[in-house]
Amino acid sequence: MPARILNGNRIRDQILIEVEEGVKALAAGGVRPGLAAVLVGDDPASQIYVRNKIKACERVGIYSESITPPATSTTEELLALVEDLNQRHDIDGILVQLPLPGHVDSARVLLAVSPQKDVDGFHPFNVGALVTKRPGPTPCTPSGLIQILKRSEISIAGKRAVIVGRSDIVGKPAALLLLHENATVTICHSRTEDLPGVAREADILVAAIGRPAFVTRDFIKPGATVLDVGINRLTDRGQVETICAGLPKKLEGFRATGAVLVGDVHPKDVAEVAGAYTPVPGGVGPLTIAMLMVNTVEAARQRRAS
Ligand code: NDP
Repeated sequence: MPARILNGNRIRDQILIEVEEGVKALAAGGVRPGLAAVLVGDDPASQIYVRNKIKACERVGIYSESITPPATSTTEELLALVEDLNQRHDIDGILVQLPLPGHVDSARVLLAVSPQKDVDGFHPFNVGALVTKRPGPTPCTPSGLIQILKRSEISIAGKRAVIVGRSDIVGKPAALLLLHENATVTICHSRTEDLPGVAREADILVAAIGRPAFVTRDFIKPGATVLDVGINRLTDRGQVETICAGLPKKLEGFRATGAVLVGDVHPKDVAEVAGAYTPVPGGVGPLTIAMLMVNTVEAARQRRAS
């Protein structure tokens, strides 16, 4: 039986419709949620990410503002900027687009965001809430993974979940959220011994590594659900021809644009071995922005309630 493709765009659209209803309900009480995006410097990838977040705000009726200090901004200047946003009543969520320029103390800037406005869920206060299963914003990409599973009716409780990657923004929070859903969770990383063997135990395999097509068929238990968080832009013809062999759409896309996006999971292997999987693009990625909208509306609700 061919593997089921878990369509992230469709799930994102469902969630955004629900968010829009939430925004309307708040509007009836005279409240408009507001999101401020801080984009330091002119990194093209970051500009695209912020533009997409602003577009999503417009789609659901959230007020948005993008603030673009120059790449030469100092840590102190960014701290003052964040403090100003913390004080503003029309702003419920603050997102600081990463990476910040090398000379900036990123940890200090992120720590300065008020936990009530931390819609990325990166503040240690909110990380603590996540660990102890208290209410609070949860990081967007990992929350998106749970939404994909639930809305695709893939059961989590009692299942073996293996996460490859232990970053603070994806791997670790994904592991905690799956644990809270009663999966039996294993976290793998670059020092894991027999990684394919451990991964093959998974009913739910999450790849958040940052290496194109790293997870090949020998990592995947037949019939498993595979969630691919990786976003890798390939421009090397040889690499594209190797990874995308037998995938005419990817190869055509490369010929037309000179680049192709692939995940951390081998695109052909996963389609042949998994029971269900998220494609790249169009899988996990769209959920990240949808969950940012969810967190912003929830921050607006909580701030008015407290
Ligand atoms: P990080 O670089 O912060 O973490 C990568 C993790 O992968 C680390 O824990 C690292 O292990 C592990 N790793 C690296 N090489 C290996 C290896 N050879 N074997 C086993 N584990 C390995 O990345 P992120 O978590 O920030 O992102 C991961 C991917 O997800 C990237 O492709 C990124 O672009 C994408 N991403 C996508 C998002 C979306 O919206 N879809 C959002 C965020 C990220 P160790 O700790 O031992 O070094």
